[in-house]
Amino acid sequence: MPPRILRRTSRLIARFALALVALPALACKSSSSQSYPAQYPQQPVGATPGVTGVPPSSPLPVGQSAALPAPGVPVAPAINDPINAVDVTFLRGQAQSLLNELVATLPTPQQQRVAGIPLVVDSTVGDVNAFATCTSGGHAAMAITDGLLDIEAHLSQARATDELFGTHKLADYIQLIVQQQRPNRPIVQPPIGFFDPTQQVDGRKVLRQHQLLEEQIAFVLGHELAHHYLGHLPCTSAGQLPLAELGQALSNTVPLFNQPNEIAADGSGTNTLLTLGFRRAGYHLTEGGALVTMQFFAGLEQFSPGSLIFAFQNSHPPAVIRAPIIQQTAAAWRLTGGRGLPYLF
Ligand SMILES: [Zn+2]
Repeated sequence: MPPRILRRTSRLIARFALALVALPALACKSSSSQSYPAQYPQQPVGATPGVTGVPPSSPLPVGQSAALPAPGVPVAPAINDPINAVDVTFLRGQAQSLLNELVATLPTPQQQRVAGIPLVVDSTVGDVNAFATCTSGGHAAMAITDGLLDIEAHLSQARATDELFGTHKLADYIQLIVQQQRPNRPIVQPPIGFFDPTQQVDGRKVLRQHQLLEEQIAFVLGHELAHHYLGHLPCTSAGQLPLAELGQALSNTVPLFNQPNEIAADGSGTNTLLTLGFRRAGYHLTEGGALVTMQFFAGLEQFSPGSLIFAFQNSHPPAVIRAPIIQQTAAAWRLTGGRGLPYLF
């Protein structure tokens, strides 16, 4: 989405200011008690137990999802999965881990432009968005909201359940949000029984939802990261955001919605995602998760036309336009042996 922030400036200032106060207290807070925005840690996720990453009870750590065992090979049930629990601490850690990996995937010139770029927590209730931005001090930053992470966690569960059990949970979840979600309200949660309890803990389903979640988040962040290294903002520079700037006004000089830039960010973000996946051992991330995210927003556009439930809809091109760009970029990436046409803009 485009770098923006005009109408949010004062709100973000307040939240960033809160972050400065809240940071020292975050280390011992659980995700459920987390109510303040904060800057994501810059060290590798999990390097400082208790500060970020995975709660001790999480059976699967933040990091790279595993490949599915061959069909017929039994997989043990996964109890207390952090995606099933919509564990925001886990989800934030996953986002930071994927951003680190996306940056490391870029060619050297682009990587140098975004090295150390901070990912900022945005915990505004009901805010579903991700964005690239500049501070008034001219430093680059990125943000993903807890609301979007919540939606992505449910989408991955629903899609994985559909794939493994032939259900239609993804369509049901989209309808649930269409019918019940209101702007600036807490994200609607599926009622008890929406997911079958046995299917929820199925080990193969859980493994699959981790793959999908990584694909979804990596695409969203890959798109925003592309805005920075493609030079769509005036501020992109290497180096970490000084803490003092978290409380400053964000720039209002950045361009608003720009269709060519959005297309370029989708294309480049898709290429980076696929290259990242190709270089991994085990499961190779695909564009599948990105298309699940597009299916969700396309559903909102189809069944709730004209009503903007989430800021994400207001700042991105329609999903029906974006999905073919992702698909065609992925096809070109494969046809060119993984080279694609990644960094033309
Ligand atoms: Zn964008």
